[in-house]
Amino acid sequence: MNETDVAANLAQVRERIARAARSSGRDPQKITLVAVSKTHPATAVQAALAAGQRDFGENLVEEAWNKFVASDSPLADWSEALLHLIGPIQSRKAVLAVSCRPVLVHSVDRLKIASRLDRFAAEAGLVLDVLLEVNVSGEESKFGFTPAGLQRDVEALLSLPNLNVSGLMTIPPYDPDPELARPHFAALRALQETLAAQYGAARWRHLSMGMSHDFEVAISEGATLVRVGTAIFGTRELG
Ligand SMILES: *Cc1c(COP(=O)(O)O)cnc(C)c1O
Repeated sequence: MNETDVAANLAQVRERIARAARSSGRDPQKITLVAVSKTHPATAVQAALAAGQRDFGENLVEEAWNKFVASDSPLADWSEALLHLIGPIQSRKAVLAVSCRPVLVHSVDRLKIASRLDRFAAEAGLVLDVLLEVNVSGEESKFGFTPAGLQRDVEALLSLPNLNVSGLMTIPPYDPDPELARPHFAALRALQETLAAQYGAARWRHLSMGMSHDFEVAISEGATLVRVGTAIFGTRELG
């Protein structure tokens, strides 16, 4: 994918976001496009930066580090890039995840990893913004808190001093028909409303939901962050 393609795809995705927002009476400015650059090279990210994109998502911590942070990366000089970590974080990668200085971690999926991130954030002298990943569908193979598990752990999560919980994230089971994702997005929003009523709205501002094939549905259900890879950077090579 060349630079022109990335710029054209970005323009198209932004237009689709704006249209989806308007048709549900929402302000398009309140929706952040996270361009998911996993498996794509730094040059693809540079093309997107040149086209005005600022927020990027990576799902492997090591890849994020090498692409965005390492001093020999061509992106090391682009201070405009904001890195979002969107994939499950293994315990032994927590320290590297914090070192990446992500603007947001979308994928805190268990108390244990939250505690480790909190500890390394404290050591680094920073407060990490995080979302809690929820498996609203109850699918067994998925990462994330179950809604009941989240209710059990939420007070412990909110008490971690170096984590700033600012919302929820979900990945519905894949189906080519985006309408089938709607009940999962709606369930995440309902959970957000419950938590906001219990613990105050400020902590639950963000809903990270929607990918290339279903972000319009997610926006109509209240997404504030959409994570879009393929529609911007093209299909990924299978590893
Ligand atoms: C890869 C990935 C995306 C982007 O998926 P596309 O279908 O390529 O848009 C979004 N969210 C997460 C968590 C991912 O791992």
